[in-house]
Amino acid sequence: MSLLEVNEIFGPTIQGEGKLVGTPSIFIRLGKCNFRCEGFSVEYETPSGIKKCSCDSYYAVDMAFKDQWQKMTAQDVIKDVLQLEPNYKIDIVITGGEPLLYWKNEEFQNLLKHYVENNYKVTIETNSSLNIDLSETYQKQILFSMSVKLSNSLEPLKKRININTLTKIINETDGSYLKFVIDEDFKEQASKEIKELTAQLPKVDVYLMPMGDTAKQINENSEAVINLSIENGYKYCDRLHIRVWDNKRGV
Ligand code: SF4
Repeated sequence: MSLLEVNEIFGPTIQGEGKLVGTPSIFIRLGKCNFRCEGFSVEYETPSGIKKCSCDSYYAVDMAFKDQWQKMTAQDVIKDVLQLEPNYKIDIVITGGEPLLYWKNEEFQNLLKHYVENNYKVTIETNSSLNIDLSETYQKQILFSMSVKLSNSLEPLKKRININTLTKIINETDGSYLKFVIDEDFKEQASKEIKELTAQLPKVDVYLMPMGDTAKQINENSEAVINLSIENGYKYCDRLHIRVWDNKRGV
């Protein structure tokens, strides 16, 4: 049996960004990603002391951290989440890394099926670059929060944009949306790339969020991102967890 590699399970906390911002949620973060997004320029050191650069979730991306990931079945995850659940039905957010790397994994499907069929709202946070099938009813009830990567990630275009997967998710699920983190310097190029992308897709909500690891940086970028949202008919979304906790992990 192929197991899930779980980087962390934490909560209850609030969903800090996207359509369900502010909603009490428990997060399940899976290890592994098909990208590195070196353009996001977060410097870090691997457990063996090698200096590298990736995104702020590097500890769930770089296989150098895999000894810190726990191999679990769906039942193991469900049991751990249960310990954290409050006395109401809380949302479940599956994030990474890139969770869709596990799409063909039976344990991953068992996990999704369990939560959807027990009436939890499930969000998958994904870069949406991988091919998936959405043939099961429970799969169509998942909310996909699609952080499609733009050129500032420094990933190649062919790898980061998967029109088939995006179209399938938009057409076959209810309310799935695109979100982009933008800073002032990249906003013109971002605007161009988002327009080119959405022109190839069915109608979909677009959320723009300000880049930054601290409340100060978020403040500095937010006005430009609000203006960009207004100009294009996109939705501005804050990054509440960073405003409140900066980039502290596990809250
Ligand atoms: S796709 Fe997301 S998790 Fe993966 S490297 Fe890029 S920003 Fe990080």
